[in-house]
Amino acid sequence: LVSRENKPDYTVVRVGDCLIGGETPVVIAGPCAVEEEKMLVELARQLKRMGVQVLRGGAYKPRTSPYSFQGLGADGLRILAEAGRAAGMPVITELTDVRYLPEVCRYAQIIQIGSRNMQNFELLKEVGRVGYPVLLKRGLSATLEEWLLAAEYILAEGNPEVILCERGIRGFETYTRNTFDINAVAAVKNLSHLPLIADPSHGTGRRELVLPVARAALAAGANGLMLEVHPAPENALSDGPQSLPPGELAVFMEELRGAGVGC
Ligand code: PEP
Ligand code: MN
Repeated sequence: LVSRENKPDYTVVRVGDCLIGGETPVVIAGPCAVEEEKMLVELARQLKRMGVQVLRGGAYKPRTSPYSFQGLGADGLRILAEAGRAAGMPVITELTDVRYLPEVCRYAQIIQIGSRNMQNFELLKEVGRVGYPVLLKRGLSATLEEWLLAAEYILAEGNPEVILCERGIRGFETYTRNTFDINAVAAVKNLSHLPLIADPSHGTGRRELVLPVARAALAAGANGLMLEVHPAPENALSDGPQSLPPGELAVFMEELRGAGVGC
């Protein structure tokens, strides 16, 4: 079902008036985790003014250490939805467990399945049965085939609105957090009709590398970008080192606009 052999024309996923997989790339941006309401509302309005189309923010955070900030949970979902409403943007958030599916569907317009859950097959089947677009991140060390078969689980349950997200894979390099797989971007556009979003924030783990790799991903055929942004990255409760300050994103959005990016 995910293959272009069966469906040569590319799938376009509509979220509000935003088309993901259409002619022009989309930008999804926001903090790694939802933190404080006033801050997020202000950031969301800024992002909207820059031309960002979808607001991101994690409420349930799959952190490596149990002692790290775990996210605000249901409160985070409410804050994210409020910020999206205030700014007039659809929102995306990660679903980490089937127990949270009803509340995530209540507050978000796109469901994110994170890398650590890419092969959580029961979760994939559940999101295959809802009428919401699903952004499926590539697993930490998943092959393209494993990733596409994970997407197949969702389509096989009847949900055709799957967006793939390349976010880097584990390699031997330690300078960067992950190795953003540019090959995967080009290969997936050949193999599958599904839209593909690039996440150079997790793909590099280093703020200064995010935008160069974002440009490379778009050049390789990505249908858009997911970028972590924080008003004060040095104080972020998660993923500060890879988060852009809003000013840097604003300059980049101007550059994209020059190249005709927008919903
Ligand atoms: C995230 O988007 O904040 C996230 C946790 O990403 P990943 O699943 O790619 O690590
Ligand atoms: Mn993150």
